[in-house]
Amino acid sequence: MSNKEEYKIASLADIPTAYKCVIVKIGGHGGLRHRLMEMGFVRGETVQVIKNAPLSDPIEYQILQSRVSLRRSEARKIDVIELTDSNSDAVRSDTTKDEYFGTFVEEYDNNEQLSKKIQEASHTITVALVGNPNCGKTSFFNHATGLHEKVGNYGGVTVDIKTGVFYHKGYTIRLVDLPGTYSINEYSPEELCVREYLSKNEHDMILNIVDSSNLERNLFLTTQLIDMNTPMIMALNMFDEFSAKGDKFDYKTLSTMLGFPIVPTTASRGTGIPEVLQAIIDVFENKKDITHHIHINYGNDIENAIASVKKEIENNKDIINLYPSRYLAISALENVKHTVAELEALHNGKQILDEAKRRRENLEKHHHEPIDTQISNARYGFIRGALKQTFVPNKSNTKRWRAFRADDILTNRWLGLPVLLVFMWIMFETTFIVGAYPQDWLDMFISWLGGLVRGWMPEGMLSDLVVDGIIGGVGSVISFLPNILILFLFISIMEDTGYMARAAFMMDKLFHKFGLHGRSFIPYIMGFGCAVPAIMATRTLENRKDRLVTVLTIPFMSCSARLPVYLILIGTFFPKNQALVMMSLYLFGVLVAVLSAKVLSKTVFRSVSEEFVMELPPYRVPTARNVLMHMWDKSVQYLKKMGTIILAASIVIWALEYFPRNSAAEQLVAQQIEQTEGMPVDSCFTAEMKTAAIDSLSYLQAAVHSEKSFVGRFGHLIEPVVRPCGFDWHIGVALCTGIAAKEIIVSTLGVLYQAGDVEDAEGESALQVKIKEQTWPEGSEYAGRPIYSPLVAYGLMIFVLLSVPCISTLAAIKREAGWGWVLFTFVYTIFLAWLFSMLIFQIGSLF
Ligand code: GDP
Ligand code: MG
Repeated sequence: MSNKEEYKIASLADIPTAYKCVIVKIGGHGGLRHRLMEMGFVRGETVQVIKNAPLSDPIEYQILQSRVSLRRSEARKIDVIELTDSNSDAVRSDTTKDEYFGTFVEEYDNNEQLSKKIQEASHTITVALVGNPNCGKTSFFNHATGLHEKVGNYGGVTVDIKTGVFYHKGYTIRLVDLPGTYSINEYSPEELCVREYLSKNEHDMILNIVDSSNLERNLFLTTQLIDMNTPMIMALNMFDEFSAKGDKFDYKTLSTMLGFPIVPTTASRGTGIPEVLQAIIDVFENKKDITHHIHINYGNDIENAIASVKKEIENNKDIINLYPSRYLAISALENVKHTVAELEALHNGKQILDEAKRRRENLEKHHHEPIDTQISNARYGFIRGALKQTFVPNKSNTKRWRAFRADDILTNRWLGLPVLLVFMWIMFETTFIVGAYPQDWLDMFISWLGGLVRGWMPEGMLSDLVVDGIIGGVGSVISFLPNILILFLFISIMEDTGYMARAAFMMDKLFHKFGLHGRSFIPYIMGFGCAVPAIMATRTLENRKDRLVTVLTIPFMSCSARLPVYLILIGTFFPKNQALVMMSLYLFGVLVAVLSAKVLSKTVFRSVSEEFVMELPPYRVPTARNVLMHMWDKSVQYLKKMGTIILAASIVIWALEYFPRNSAAEQLVAQQIEQTEGMPVDSCFTAEMKTAAIDSLSYLQAAVHSEKSFVGRFGHLIEPVVRPCGFDWHIGVALCTGIAAKEIIVSTLGVLYQAGDVEDAEGESALQVKIKEQTWPEGSEYAGRPIYSPLVAYGLMIFVLLSVPCISTLAAIKREAGWGWVLFTFVYTIFLAWLFSMLIFQIGSLF
């Protein structure tokens, strides 16, 4: 016991069965550390090995009164000091765990030497200095350690790794001065050296030294370090020069956005070094609120590729203990040799690399750019966004920022929002004006087809099914394909040019006021297309509460499936102000979403939403190929929906309306028609009068039939509920069927009003003609008056906008949030929809 050499630091994986040890350090990347600490592996804790056979995996341990098993690769990242008395070596070698009774140094607090060793080992911090050449790493190193390494004002001065050790406030700090690099790809010996050192994971944290007079370039390396997920601190060096320039830099906000401390320093004079050392200790001691891990957002396409490669990687439980899986996935996509070599050796290496290759080639094909350019661009986008939010250059120094000129207008504090609104107005205006032509052609074609089929098929149920059910139902929806394509054209142009990210950027401040942040804006905008991918896109939000708030409010963003309903009603009742009315609906949806988010984040999900970097990717001319591909995907999706859900729903609704046939009341009318037909024509009862009488009787017959049909009975059942909104039972039924998919509202009306049979009038679709004809039946409160008016139409659109999202969206919510929230969404949205359209109708009726 007297020999100091007895207490050696070993890895937990090497401690044999039945031995005890004390943990002095947890290594590895952030994710692993977090996992181990949650299992109870924290510094100073005693662990006993229950079972550790040389080749067995996992190893079993006893810690804190509970048994846990660790994979060997995990145990290797834990440093320990053995507590076993070395005099019992003889016992150790020839006993099994059951009969072994070694003498443990149980109370190491009383053993001065041992506890000193433990104290020392667990208070040693290895800090890797990483930064661009000439950012002041060596100056920092010299000042902190008191050593005298060569400082130079030219690149490549530090060619090898130097280590300096010093004591500070009870800690032993080992500083490792690495060569300066602009990135950690593998283009130069310096880069390779840094990458290899960091891969070994011998350091406890990274001190990223940044030249504050050249932030944009320096932060590039930072983005790569963030991906490695190691505890980190940033020294904002050359702060003397920076201050002299008069630029304003809110590095404290940047620090909360990046998730690690940022300390200004002037390494050449030693200013700020004590603060950096304090930050090192704070991070080492894992003080909760100063660090959190963030992800650089590489944009949807690359993120999807990362996710799928990551999934392959995670099939290997050992490699993810060595590196964060996200980092490996990104490196594999970038085809970094070091990573590729390491992955090749794995049992599932081939699958991982194949997937990475497939994804890489796909991305390169779509964007016409090598993958490293795409990833670098995304990194610069992150940096540009971070700086735009925190950095205000001195007016006289603006020259350096010339590259961002377009942003001076598009994300300008005063101009940005109006420009966005004008852009959206153009988007909707085009959707109508340009979309109207192909839409008319399609409408004409569908009516022509209906007529043709009617004439060609023998009269009877089958022809009714095809003309009224299928052509009437699917046909009334399909003609909106051109409009939807135009909307998607705009959305994909917004995404590809980089304008979408700017829109999100501008919304960030505003969104914060509602308990959201700008990152929720992209899912919101995607929600204009379809809520399902939008809900999936919320995965870029790391905080679960933020994510839930966004998921639950996305359904209020008006998706393209609602477009057919708007187009029909706006076209009929607001022909003069189409784009304006349309935009008011979209904005109203946004407003409800944002207010609901506010309420939710104030009540159910009380959380401080963290600040995020809003990426500003470079502006690009969108490639025609990419945009067309996007539109092609959407049309295929749309047509699939037509062929499946909407077709099925149309047939079901047709059947519910078609049966039962010949109710007593209907027969009565039929008899009257027969009688009328048999009546002789004379001077008092002219042929014209006869036709008119038969016509109105047939109309009555159809109405009576509808009323008595299954769907009519159901409609009447729910009519009292929707009556306060000014809706009749047809609308009530249509709204119910809309839960399957919003387009079905139109097809239901198409089927119920039998729009398949009507000839197109000038510039109006069959359904529009029918809608205008609908009147309240005799005996009702508004007897004889038209059911639809601009007021009712607007209320109906609001109802469609706010009410229950479609089944697929509910399924997506279930996946992200669970059944409870599906139920919540159901009740909450119906209530809001009903409330608003009721208010619109009731208040509007007063005037
Ligand atoms: P390294 O390449 O990152 O190791 O950088 P060095 O420590 O060799 O420093 C490069 C040059 O920058 C030297 O001339 C230093 O004197 C100078 N330098 C380092 N830190 C600062 C600082 O905070 N302010 C100023 N003005 N100069 C600095
Ligand atoms: Mg140096």
